[in-house]
Amino acid sequence: MTLKVYNTLTRKKEEFVPIEPGKVKMYVCGPTVYNYIHIGNGRPVIFFDVVRRYLESQNYEVNYITNFTDVDDKMIRKAEEMAVSVPELAETFIAAFLEDIQSLGVHDATLNPRVTENIQEIIDFIAALVEKDFAYEARGDVYYRTSKFTDYGKLSKQNLEELQHGIRIEVDERKENPQDFVLWKAAKPGEIYWDSPWGQGRPGWHIECSAMVRKYLGETIDIHGGGQDLTFPHHECEIAQTEAVTGHPMANYWLHNAFLNIDNEKMSKSLGNGILIRDLVKQIKPQVFRFFMLSAHYRNPLNFSDESLKQAANALERIQNAYDNMKHRLATASATGEVEAGITDKLQAISKQFVDKMNDDFNTPDAITAVFDLVAEANLYLQQERVHADAVKLYLEQLEAFDATLGILSQQADELLDEEIEQLIVERTESRKSKNWARADEIRDLLTEKGIFLEDTPQGIRWRRK
Ligand code: AMP
Ligand code: ZN
Repeated sequence: MTLKVYNTLTRKKEEFVPIEPGKVKMYVCGPTVYNYIHIGNGRPVIFFDVVRRYLESQNYEVNYITNFTDVDDKMIRKAEEMAVSVPELAETFIAAFLEDIQSLGVHDATLNPRVTENIQEIIDFIAALVEKDFAYEARGDVYYRTSKFTDYGKLSKQNLEELQHGIRIEVDERKENPQDFVLWKAAKPGEIYWDSPWGQGRPGWHIECSAMVRKYLGETIDIHGGGQDLTFPHHECEIAQTEAVTGHPMANYWLHNAFLNIDNEKMSKSLGNGILIRDLVKQIKPQVFRFFMLSAHYRNPLNFSDESLKQAANALERIQNAYDNMKHRLATASATGEVEAGITDKLQAISKQFVDKMNDDFNTPDAITAVFDLVAEANLYLQQERVHADAVKLYLEQLEAFDATLGILSQQADELLDEEIEQLIVERTESRKSKNWARADEIRDLLTEKGIFLEDTPQGIRWRRK
């Protein structure tokens, strides 16, 4: 089965055919860097990382660009509040963003271009729109003339008339039409600015992505992504800008993730229920958060709660335990004799199941079912007293191949949390009581491997890290 993706532009699942065979040009709108990111922002970050990893696992060379909005109204206001310059504010929160997403195991983008590094390209883009009559200047601002772009509304499936009704009529006599949007904003006294043919000012929000996509990836790209709230107006405006200038489709596939809610409520400033990624990863393993994110299809809303995190932690623990166990058994198993018949066939079937599910519009929850099937098979095999090292290796490599896409396993030996160590110690004590010596030994070995030492004391078992 070939990859099919749901395209917001056509509202259909379509076969994915890249512009250039074997290569994918992909752009995901990045953050405005005026704050730490919250767990909702983690959804597009993790989902598109998985898309990129999966494409790479299918041997595509992926050019993955995601931008930083490092100047806009919010940046200017926040910089004032914090009494720092806009570039200083940007540095702080770009560093924080990169730190946060790295803690979530997100692979580095090919490039993270910034607005302030692309001002000339942005000015050139706006000038081309003015030249073609798709934009007009009004007292130092430049606006996009939406009435001239007949396809305006094609992504969000609205026509101009409907849009007109939807817009609160703000009195802004500079605009020809209320739905026209700003491309260049004249600077107010004291604000950061760049010189332009329309005077001193700064770019509007939407234009940066059109300019950066064209500069770094070309006139038409394969995948353009972001959260569903970006469909309108942001992506609609990007399309209007780019397609007016190039005459070509901006992207062949538009992908949008649904929202993450907290305790069945929308995350919002007024409710004060936002949780920062940096606070979350102090409390739970980042892999648990990734697993939780991937346990729902990206186009379905997902609810964040203590209960759903606990479920994710328990489920992931089964996979992690199997993984640790495989690595441990591999170290001690012998490699003589034949690998049992049938293992390769089973693994092939499970691998196909995973790929089929991922090919079905990145159906991660069902792909995770394939991971559990693998774990079940591996656990069954590892129950035997004697196992073949090559067979264990096959299971292990398959699990690692799945994880290259999902990024849910912990590698470091010292990554056991205190709570997990204590659980394992309880399990070991129970195994010994029930005379399951094999499991008890296995747990001791696992802990040793992770640098945890056990000591039998008259007060019970004590443990310490190496
Ligand atoms: P913002 O915080 O509005 O700058 O959003 C940055 C990115 O995170 C955009 O792609 C948004 O669509 C996405 N996003 C913001 N909040 C959520 C949420 N609660 N669930 C999923 N995605 C979100
Ligand atoms: Zn964008």
